Amino acid sequence: MHLVWFRRDLRGLDNRALSAASDASEPVVGIFIETPEQWASHHLSPKQAGLIKARLDALREELSAKNIPLVVERAADFPQSAEKVADYAHRIGATAVFANKEYELNESKRDEQACAALADKGIAWYAYDDRNLFAPGTIKSGKGEPYKVFTPFKKACLRALDGMDVSPCQKPSKRETNSAVDAIFSQLQPIHFDYPMEDVSDWASDEKGILAHMRRYCREQVADYKRQRDFPAVDATSQLSPYLAIGALSPRQCLARLQEEQADWREPDTGAATWLSELIWRDFYQEVSAQNPAISKKYSFLAWGESVVWDNDPTLFEAWKTGKTGFPIVDAAMHQLNQTGWMHNRLRMIVASFLTKDLLIDWRWGEDYFMSKLIDGDFASNNGGWQWSASVGTDAQPYFRIFNPTTQGERFDSDGRFIRRWLPALKEVPGKHIHNPWQWADKYAQSLDYPRPVVDHATQRKKALAIFEAAKNQP
Ligand code: FAD
Repeated sequence: MHLVWFRRDLRGLDNRALSAASDASEPVVGIFIETPEQWASHHLSPKQAGLIKARLDALREELSAKNIPLVVERAADFPQSAEKVADYAHRIGATAVFANKEYELNESKRDEQACAALADKGIAWYAYDDRNLFAPGTIKSGKGEPYKVFTPFKKACLRALDGMDVSPCQKPSKRETNSAVDAIFSQLQPIHFDYPMEDVSDWASDEKGILAHMRRYCREQVADYKRQRDFPAVDATSQLSPYLAIGALSPRQCLARLQEEQADWREPDTGAATWLSELIWRDFYQEVSAQNPAISKKYSFLAWGESVVWDNDPTLFEAWKTGKTGFPIVDAAMHQLNQTGWMHNRLRMIVASFLTKDLLIDWRWGEDYFMSKLIDGDFASNNGGWQWSASVGTDAQPYFRIFNPTTQGERFDSDGRFIRRWLPALKEVPGKHIHNPWQWADKYAQSLDYPRPVVDHATQRKKALAIFEAAKNQP
C-alpha cells in the first residue's frame, strides 16, 4: 500500500507525489490533515479554508473514480500531523509515504519529523519538488549562487525552459481495489472542518471547472494581458491565484496550456510572455523564501528594514482595514478584498504602499491582515509582495519611490468605474472628481457619506522618506 499525503497540492493531475505513488501496481490511499491551530497561527483566511474544504470534497470524488480513497484527519499542529500520518501509514500497512515538498521553515521541520517517525516504523518517505516551474535551488547564477534580483532570475528560467522538463507528469491510472482499500472506503466520513469557513461557491472547485477556467484564459484572454492587466475595472488577469495557492492547479499545467494556445509565448512584450513572467515571479518568491529562513520568521530581507521606526497607529490601521481612509482607490480595493477574498495586483501594490508609506504602519501588520482575508493567501508571494512594497525586500521598490494614491487612482481607474463598483457612496460624484470627492463636495456644498482623508499624502511622504533614510543610515 502507498500513502499519499496531500497538503498544498490538492489535485489529481500533474501531481508528482501522486504520480510516483501510482507508478507501481500498489493500491494507493490519500490523506489530508486539517491543522486548525497551525492555520489560525498563520492567519489562514476563512475563504481559503472554504476553498480547501470544497476542493477536498471534489478531490475525494475524483480520486475515488480511480479507486483511491481520500482520508481526512485532524491534528492541532504540524508536529502532531507528522505523527498522525506516520501512525496512519503504519495502521494501514503502507510501505511508503509520498508527499510534495513544502519549503517554508515549519513545513520543512514537520517533514523531517514525519520522515524520522516513518523510519522508526520501517516505512519509506519520498518527497518531490512539485510546487513550482523550477524547484528552489535549481536556478543559479553563473557563480552557482541563488539569484536575489528578479530579471536575471527570469532570464535564467527562460533559458532553462529549453533543457529542463517542466511538462505535466503522468496522471494516475485506475487502481485495482482490494479488501483493505474497500474497508477504508467504507469508513470514510463526510469531511468536516473545525475551522471557520466562508462561502466560496463563486469559485469552481472541481478539476473540470478549474481546468476549463485556466484553458479559457490561455485561449481567449491572455493575449491582452500586457495591455490590460493594470486596470482593476477590467477582468484581464486570470484569477487563477486561489488554485495555484492551494495546488488545485500547477504552474506546469498553466505553462503547457499557454504554450499550446499562444505560439508567441516566447516573444518579448506579448501578453503570453508577460503572463509567464508573473508565474516566474511566483517561483522567484518561493526561491527567496526557501533560501532565506529569516523570511519564514518574517524578518525583512534587507537588514536595515528592521530599524524602520513605524508609527503603528491602531486607529489608522482600522481605517485601512475597513476601507475608510478617504482615499477612494485604497478604500475600494479594501472593500474588494473584504467582500471577495481577492484583490487585483495593482491594488495590492497601492494599498500596501499606502499602509507602509502613508500610514507608516509595519508591513507585517498588512501581511497578516491580507492572509486573514485572501482566498489566494500564499506565504512566499504575500511576504514578497509586502516586502517589495515596503522597500525592505529583495529587488524591492526603492524606498524613495512612493506611490501617490490619488494619481495611482487617476492612472489606473481613470473614470472611477472600479471605485464606484465598490463604494456606492461615491456613485454620484462626477468622473473628474472621483479621486478627490471631498474637493468636489466642499466646492459644491454636497453632502457625502464618505470619510475625509485620514492623512495628508505630501506630509506623510516626507515623514516616510525621513524614517526610511534614518533606518538606512543606522550604523
Ligand atoms: P495573474 O496576473 O493572472 O498572474 C498569474 C499567476 O502568476 C497568479 O495567479 C500568481 O500565481 C502568479 N503571480 C502574479 N503576480 C505575482 C506576483 N507579483 N508575485 C508572485 N506571484 C504572482 N499572490 C498570491 O498568489 N498570494 C498572495 O498571498 C499574494 N499576496 C500579495 C501581496 C502583495 C502586497 C502584493 C503586491 C502581491 C501579492 N500577490 C499574491 C501577487 C499578485 O498580486 C497575485 O498573485 C495576483 O494578483 C493574482 O491574480 P491573478 O491570478 O489574476 O494573477
